[in-house]
Amino acid sequence: PGSHSELFEMITELGDGGYGCVYKVKHKIDGKIYALKKVILTRKADSEVKALAQLEHPNIVRYITSWHGPNIWTSNQQRNQVSNTPGSSSDVVTFDRAGSGERDDDDDDDDDGDDDDDEKSEMESLGVTDSRTYLFIQMEFCEGGTLTDWIQARNQMEKQRTTAEIHKIFDEIITGVEYIHAKKLIHRDLKPDNILFGADGKVKIGDFGLVAAQTDQKGEPLERSNIGTRSYMSPEQKNKKNYDEKTDIFPLGLVWFEMIWEIYTASEREKLWPDLRNQRFPEGFRDVYSTECTFIKKMLSYSPEHRPHAKDMKENLSKFFSLGQKP
Ligand code: ATP
Ligand code: MG
Ligand code: MG
Repeated sequence: PGSHSELFEMITELGDGGYGCVYKVKHKIDGKIYALKKVILTRKADSEVKALAQLEHPNIVRYITSWHGPNIWTSNQQRNQVSNTPGSSSDVVTFDRAGSGERDDDDDDDDDGDDDDDEKSEMESLGVTDSRTYLFIQMEFCEGGTLTDWIQARNQMEKQRTTAEIHKIFDEIITGVEYIHAKKLIHRDLKPDNILFGADGKVKIGDFGLVAAQTDQKGEPLERSNIGTRSYMSPEQKNKKNYDEKTDIFPLGLVWFEMIWEIYTASEREKLWPDLRNQRFPEGFRDVYSTECTFIKKMLSYSPEHRPHAKDMKENLSKFFSLGQKP
């Protein structure tokens, strides 16, 4: 009789964020491959599971089950904290978009401030046993990788992308987000890293670590904080105002642009990004992609009221996409 986690054999580490780790695992009894996310159990950790468990949709990562248990498979990051080797993976300058370094996790929505987690992980790196409890989330394994991988393969010209493919993917993203919003939730961290592709080739929206309700139980707007990924975050999410589900539309405008427009270097990206966030597009974009440009511009509106709802986007896009795909 051990922990439930012992039912799994770890195959590889898929992602190692500051707050947890995602593993590709094999279930020892059913023999199937799954993704297993491990996060330190905090007061808010379970909200990811509570949201995922309510969501059942072809464009949302499929949730299997969850449990609380002790740590298992200490991550590379935790090991690096000890060795701190120069030239380790964290020094490699990749064509990184929203790296964990710009993650803003200043969420004090309902925090009454016991922040001893960092201290404990330092203790652990000194060889002290990890006595913390973790939350484990078993999900479908998305074997098609992330939208970040998809964009990189295109930018490095490993793969040609057709307009029809871009339309199909973006339509599936909007369909997933429309469903999340219909369930009265806000994702709050939409970005290519958190958009995956399943074994069926379809988009699967993942990482509900920052999911929030649209309103409180009385239907009133909630006080928010500037949690999220800075480069993708809507202006109101950055400025800690009250915000609603329209905050998810802003990053989708950025994502659609990135799917269409090739950005070859990190410095090009750095130059272009602030303009893009202010609805200014690179030369030539509007001429070639005038309809996309109109949609994206609206999605990037500074005021959330001027951004379209996912539901309306979905309807208008299907008209545009069906026209565009005719031979
Ligand atoms: P972040 O700090 O970016 O928010 P996170 O620690 O909250 O990350 P996730 O985004 O859920 O965790 O997962 C981290 C990474 O692991 C993803 O970007 C993706 O590469 C991979 N991953 C997550 N879930 C799956 C899955 N179901 N199938 C395959 N890969 C996955
Ligand atoms: Mg993530
Ligand atoms: Mg996350």
